[in-house]
Amino acid sequence: MLKIALIAHDRKKDEMVNFTIAYEHVFKPHQLYATGTTGTRIMENTSLEVTRFMSGPLGGDQQIGALVATNEMDLIIFLRDPLMAQPHEPDITALLRLCDVQGIPVATNVATAELLVKCLERGDFAWRELVHKYKPGIEE
Ligand code: PGA
Repeated sequence: MLKIALIAHDRKKDEMVNFTIAYEHVFKPHQLYATGTTGTRIMENTSLEVTRFMSGPLGGDQQIGALVATNEMDLIIFLRDPLMAQPHEPDITALLRLCDVQGIPVATNVATAELLVKCLERGDFAWRELVHKYKPGIEE
């Protein structure tokens, strides 16, 4: 079971909902996290259980980033809106930076998200289980 974070900007939320409907069977065995509204929309439209953080502009990206920083988050699907300025742009940049620090797979558009989910389905991220087993807790 891996920890997966799902975030979608407002004009990408329908796409995220459709994506989670399409791949519900792949997400089902995993522990899902999301920013507030994204999580609500997913739970309204699927049978997936999602742990919801704050809404993105109120700090949700930073909450997910905290789990990335401690190497606890395994995969991030972050459907960003490239055509609309976001008030929490610094938080978005910070989250993506932390993914690069820890080497966490992150998709920022649905085409890449689809590839990652297919990898997830066939077990390509099993190495993350080893990370949890041998490197638990906070690292310097
Ligand atoms: P939301 O946050 O899921 O609460 O809308 C995502 C965002 O817009 O950053």
